[in-house]
Amino acid sequence: MSQIDNYLQLQGAITPEFQQSLSASDAMDLLKAGNDRFVAEEPVKRERQALLNGASNGQAPFAAVLGCIDSRAPIEELFDAEIGDLFVARVAGNTVNGDILGSLEYACKYAGSKAILVLGHTQCGAVKGTYAQLEDGNLTGLLQRIEPAVTAIRSEVGDNPSDAAIDRCVASNVDLVCDRIRKESDILRTMEADGAIVIAGAIYDVATGKVSYR
Ligand SMILES: [Zn+2]
Repeated sequence: MSQIDNYLQLQGAITPEFQQSLSASDAMDLLKAGNDRFVAEEPVKRERQALLNGASNGQAPFAAVLGCIDSRAPIEELFDAEIGDLFVARVAGNTVNGDILGSLEYACKYAGSKAILVLGHTQCGAVKGTYAQLEDGNLTGLLQRIEPAVTAIRSEVGDNPSDAAIDRCVASNVDLVCDRIRKESDILRTMEADGAIVIAGAIYDVATGKVSYR
């Protein structure tokens, strides 16, 4: 039986035994299958009390997702995930700093997650703000972290980017964040090199509900 079938037969929260039976690629397969169920409007719901009972004994999430705060990209919902399934870090523009990296290190090294998915999305306001070189309050520093993803495309396209140009920046940001995770976290780089985890990027389409992998 595939690990997706095993997952679908869970009665309550994911157990540490199930989590540790997964490979890194199994964890990616579970994310993909979850978004397929979401797109097909075929969610699989587990019983709430069984999930809470499992939660009271600890957690063993199979993956960590770094997403944007955007209200149109609710992470658990779009992966048809339940309580205890995923670590979720959300910050405008799904970028990284020391706190986010530390959170991802905890998720993988200390809590056993097998995959990190960096999830950008179409029509991202943080990317649009970066493109427009918005400077205001604490946004200034946040958007500076996204700037390397837009500089080249802004030079090429100019001041009035099409939606397609913004989506290219979104994709570039996802790729750069994946690179930064590897570069700036010795723990996660080593875990990926050892095959213990996979670090991957994807884009969520706010119009279709579909996740496309990089
Ligand atoms: Zn966004």
